[in-house]
Order: sequence, then structure tokens, then C-alpha cells
Amino acid sequence: MRPVPPPTPPITVQAPPSVRPTWAEVDRDALVHNVRVVGDAVGGARRILAVVKADAYGHGAAHAARAFVEAGVFGLAVSLVEEGIELRAAGIAAPIVVLGGVPEGAEDAIVATGLRPVVWTRDHLDRLDAAVLRHAGGRVRVHVKVDTGMSRLGVLPSDLPALLDRLRQARDTIVVEGLMTHFARAGDADGEAATRAQHEAFVACVPEVTRALGREPPLLHCANSAALARFGWTHLDLVRPGIALYGGAPRAELALPGLRPALSFHSEVVDVRELPAKARVGYGGHGRLDRPSRLAVVPVGYADGYPHAASGRGEVLVRGRRCPLVGDVSMDISMVDVTDVPGVRPGDRVTLLGRQGDAEIGLFELCGWTGLLPYEVTCGISKRVPRHGR
Ligand SMILES: *Cc1c(COP(=O)(O)O)cnc(C)c1O
Repeated sequence: MRPVPPPTPPITVQAPPSVRPTWAEVDRDALVHNVRVVGDAVGGARRILAVVKADAYGHGAAHAARAFVEAGVFGLAVSLVEEGIELRAAGIAAPIVVLGGVPEGAEDAIVATGLRPVVWTRDHLDRLDAAVLRHAGGRVRVHVKVDTGMSRLGVLPSDLPALLDRLRQARDTIVVEGLMTHFARAGDADGEAATRAQHEAFVACVPEVTRALGREPPLLHCANSAALARFGWTHLDLVRPGIALYGGAPRAELALPGLRPALSFHSEVVDVRELPAKARVGYGGHGRLDRPSRLAVVPVGYADGYPHAASGRGEVLVRGRRCPLVGDVSMDISMVDVTDVPGVRPGDRVTLLGRQGDAEIGLFELCGWTGLLPYEVTCGISKRVPRHGR
């Protein structure tokens, strides 16, 4: 038998923090400002549930959540129980609504951390009821979701009576704080009629819920960013913006005036290459130089969430000037033509999304080059990219 080698000792030397200069900046003032813009759009009496699922659409959940809470939102919404627990662990005490329901095995954590799940099945209620009894004392607040046409999550209006019966039985353990639905087509150019139909189906459920529970649920809500920007009749008691709070919109035409993009994405020139005409650049040789060129090597690629689909189309900012990408964006590296920008040298900032002086690469522009949704761009900036708060 061969001897078993001793375990490798742990490596204690840390790489210095910015060996690879690629990062995202998340502007806290912009997040706070956007809460005000949304608040003004919906009227001061309406509450805001700030959607911070998926690491706050890639902006960093705890950083964004703190900014939103300080700006005065009613609470936060996440998709997963894990995301809610992460916010609690970061010391955030505000109401947290879990949009994704009550996964089996999550009920005790929900009760213990005071999360407020969205519910739509009897099974959700059975398991929450049992968990509250196990915890002895306290109650769990829930938001009941009605499926009015998204056909994804929520109880169909026809199945609402049975769910309300179960809620009545659980009135000592489960408190209905909200009644909600979610729109499928609020962002579509021709989506108004479908959104109205969903809204009417939702409002039609309210008397029945009120009768069954002996009071109207305190918070009726349905508006995402698109609905709140376009249709005032969807505002009700509370609105649920996500992308608007980050300064975006599902489409450029739906952006509320005055929003400020909160996230910018940057890297640096690490090398400048002088290459002859006719050289081919990058994988597949897809970049072709038709003149002697100076190319900047930029250490950012699709593994960072800079989309491969920007290859051959996208532009970045260097020294305040727009410069085209050359060839394919690869996993870790992108090449940029800086022939027309004098003096570019290693260490110069490269802005992939955001401003340099008066020049700006906007979210919708990047979406135009790539066919990506604005949501995909910010959610897609990978964990490998450090977020710096500002
Ligand atoms: C994600 C989400 C929102 C926010 O949507 P935006 O388009 O980002 O405003 C609102 N409500 C629900 C149920 C969601 O899942």
C-alpha cells in the first residue's frame, strides 16, 4: 500500500484585493432617490414594497435593502426563503415578504425569522400553522396570492373559498396581511386590456375575502414597475417595484422620468497592443482589422456577466470616448479598439455600463446590442465581480 500523503496545509496568503480590476459600483444615493421618484409617482399615502430578489437584481441585497429601508419603504420582497434569511443575518429588521411561497421544510425558518410568505395552497397553510404551534406564541403574517391570468403562482378565484376556509380555521396562527396578484402583460405595448382584466378579477375577490376573514386584508397590491408607471388604477394600497428602484424599466419607454441608474460596471486597460492591418482578433478570428490598430486588452468577459452577445456590436467608454469591441467577448477578456483615442495606457478605466464625463453607455443600449432584457443584464453580472458601494 502506498502511504497516504499528508493533507495540504491551508493557504493563508490572500491575493491583494484589486489584482484584476473589474468591478461594479452601486450608487446608494441613486437607490434612495429612486424610492422618492416612485413615491412621487404613486402618491405619498401608498406604501412601497421594494423587490430585492436575486441579490437586488445584482446590486447586492443587503446594500440595496438598507438604502431602501432608510428611504422609507414599507418593506422588502425576496423570492426565496434563503434570500430573506440572508437579509435578517445582515441585520435588516424591516418586513420581508417571500414571493416564492413556502417550500417544504422552510416553514420553521420562516416563523423563526419573522418572514412574511406569499401563500396560495392549503399545504402552505397547514405547514405554517404547524410551525407556529411548534414555536409557541406569535403568529405568521401572510400575503394571499390570487392567480388572475399569469397562470404561474397563486390560487385560482374558483379555488379561493376552500383556501379561505382553511385560513379561518388557522386564524390564531396565521394573519392575512395582504392580498395580491401579479400582472403578465403590464409591460407590453398592447397589454392594457389584459392588465385591466386581471385587475378586475383581482378586485372582484376582495369582498369574498373580507367576508371570510371578517375584515378587508390591510394591503391590497398588484403593481410591478411597469404597471405603476403606466396605470394609476393598479396602485391600490402598496406597489411592488423592482427594476424601477434600480433606475431601469422593462423597456425604455416605460422608465419613470427622473430615475437614476444605480449600477455601473467597470474594468481597466491592462495592456495596449499595436497590430497590423488584416490581423484577426480573438476566438474564431471574428475580429478583423482593416487598418493598423491599437487595441486595449480588458480583463472582463462573459464569466463576469459581460454578454458574449455584445461581440462585434458593443461599445465601451475609455477616456470619455466610445470605443468599439473587436472580435468575440471571451470568458475573461474583451478587446477594444482604441486607435482613435490618443494616449490610452494600462490603468485607464473602461466603463462597460455607466458614465464617463458626458458619455454614457446605458442599460437599454446594452440590451439593444445583445437582445437581453434589462433584468438579465444586471442579474447576470456574476459573483466574481466585486460590488463597491458608493
Ligand atoms: C419580481 C416581481 C416584482 C417586481 O417586478 P419589476 O418588473 O422588477 O418591477 C413584483 N411582483 C412580483 C410578484 C415579482 O415577482
